[in-house]
Amino acid sequence: MAQAKDRSERGTASERGYTSAWAKARLAYLHEHPLCVAHMEQGQIVQATVVDHIKPHRLWQAKQSGDGKALAAAQKLFWDRSNWQALCKRCHDIKTVKEDGAFGRMIKIDAADACSD
Ligand SMILES: [Zn+2]
Repeated sequence: MAQAKDRSERGTASERGYTSAWAKARLAYLHEHPLCVAHMEQGQIVQATVVDHIKPHRLWQAKQSGDGKALAAAQKLFWDRSNWQALCKRCHDIKTVKEDGAFGRMIKIDAADACSD
């Protein structure tokens, strides 16, 4: 596992798992899945710019907890491509708000619903 070399990055995106390895994986995924899946369900073509984790990985929280099992589970969720979906920024923002509103509950976000105007 990559340790953060630059300690000034503590608690930043890279500490939460958004490393250069993720940046590469994300780009490759967006190349393969260039369209927002939530908009696509509505028959709309919108370019995706975000790789969203369908189930929140909570990697940062797992790291903070020091619980090896929780960390392993979070890592698995983070890197599991079947847990990824391509979204546009707008759909991602809507999903994030919904998740924050339902903090602690593992609800499956209806992304198509999130996209309806
Ligand atoms: Zn969208």
